[in-house]
Amino acid sequence: MSSATVAGHEVSTDHWIGGERVAGSERFEVITPIDGSVIAQVAAGGAHEADLAVAAAHAAAPGWAALGPVGRATLLTRLADLIDQNVERLAAVECADMAMLLESLRLRVIHRAAANFRNYAELAASYEERDWRSKGTWNRVQRMPAGPAAVITPWNAPFMLSTWKVAPALAAGCPVVLKPAEWSPLSCSLLADLTAQAGFPPGVFNVLQGTGEQAGAALVAHPMLRRISFTGSPETAREIGVAAARNLVPFTGELGGKGPLIVFEDADLDAAAAKAAGQYDDAGQVCLAGTRLLVQESVRDEFLERFHAAVDRHVLGDPRAPETTVSPLIHPEHLARVDGFVKRAVAAGDRLVRGGQPAGGLLYEPTLFEPRANDSEIVQREVFGPVLTFQTFADEAEAIALSNSTPYGLSGIVYTSSMGRADRVGRAVRAGVVWVNTFLVRDLTAPFGGIGISGLGREGGNYALDFYSDLKTLQILEGSVR
Ligand code: NDP
Repeated sequence: MSSATVAGHEVSTDHWIGGERVAGSERFEVITPIDGSVIAQVAAGGAHEADLAVAAAHAAAPGWAALGPVGRATLLTRLADLIDQNVERLAAVECADMAMLLESLRLRVIHRAAANFRNYAELAASYEERDWRSKGTWNRVQRMPAGPAAVITPWNAPFMLSTWKVAPALAAGCPVVLKPAEWSPLSCSLLADLTAQAGFPPGVFNVLQGTGEQAGAALVAHPMLRRISFTGSPETAREIGVAAARNLVPFTGELGGKGPLIVFEDADLDAAAAKAAGQYDDAGQVCLAGTRLLVQESVRDEFLERFHAAVDRHVLGDPRAPETTVSPLIHPEHLARVDGFVKRAVAAGDRLVRGGQPAGGLLYEPTLFEPRANDSEIVQREVFGPVLTFQTFADEAEAIALSNSTPYGLSGIVYTSSMGRADRVGRAVRAGVVWVNTFLVRDLTAPFGGIGISGLGREGGNYALDFYSDLKTLQILEGSVR
């Protein structure tokens, strides 16, 4: 058994397969973005470990299905309670692992992960099978657990994002093999410990550590899987989609975004500018971020004055310090990627309005561009860092046209005081979610997913339970049974 002490807490660095720690022969290094030092050597799985993990999930499937929604709900609720009781440990490890702000983890993000389990415990227990009569028969839609599910997650908000998928899969009766991202794999190892503490049967929840190329690719190609749920980039989704197609396994993909933040002249400009400056939170490593600021020409100067004042108040620094609002980027390779976007934009003639430089360690200055044209790379491609673009529009039609001018379609944010406009623009913006005068608040029963290269399928609420279930129609001739 191998472990590391991270932020004062012991974390297993092995796989978790069939209710046991499995070491494997190879390891990879995990660094903390806080100072770049190595904090753990984590097991690097491949085809052998993927096979062990899927076999364990497969073996656990009949027993987990037989427990039924109510039996599973008891364990899911216990797990939610344990997450809430372990907030300090989970937050400290996650903060060291990916540099999300510690206060935000402690106060909001980890509790949200617990809420995912609690919510799905309730939803699954009340997930009704539909009955009706037609054509002399009695009909029922039965929902059967689909079987072992692979969950592949990205490095940003790894704990919360993984529970967003793991909770509905388990609630629907599907054992899970989770492959976390190699840059932030530690908090998911703690989740494995908590499932054991909650009393989950062996094999119901498994963690396969390793790289995407080896562990991830071997996992998604496994013929015994019945579902694949992925969050990450569109490029990786295409590869996973090919593997899923080979085995005819349904898969969902929650992918990248390049959301517009649209500010109309009738908006509360203070609120809009504050929210725009807030898009630099978590160093912009947020798929749902409104990274394209689209502001009505008539309020351009008033907006920019407020926006710059709000950005000036940001404090870049150590994510453990309560005053920090912008934390370091996840990894030196990612910093180089973000900086590459900025340098190419400058070279292409996009106007750098502010920022544009590394700010020590893995910090990067909040950066704003006025692009030379809407087809600039900096407008069209997801940077996944603290880089925003600023464009103006004349009227509603132009705002909508600009909003819908990228291949992405994950989210949109609209600031307006008009109900009619909120409804019109909300309908017209091509995105899985549009927020009006707010951001990131989302009811757990609402559907979630993207349009275009931002995603396939929907998760959230019963939409996720549907994904992890095989729906069957049972039809019985009336009067033929007693
Ligand atoms: P990647 O697509 O690079 O990786 C995501 C996961 O897939 C990682 O665990 C990765 O492993 C794994 N992976 C990589 N290659 C393969 C493969 N061939 N087969 C199976 N698994 C593989 O995304 P990032 O981790 O860089 O995350 C950032 C992206 O995620 C951004 O585009 C962001 O917008 C998106 N995202 C979307 C969200 C949404 O809900 N829509 C939420 C959060 C992020 P490894 O880490 O080893 O590479």
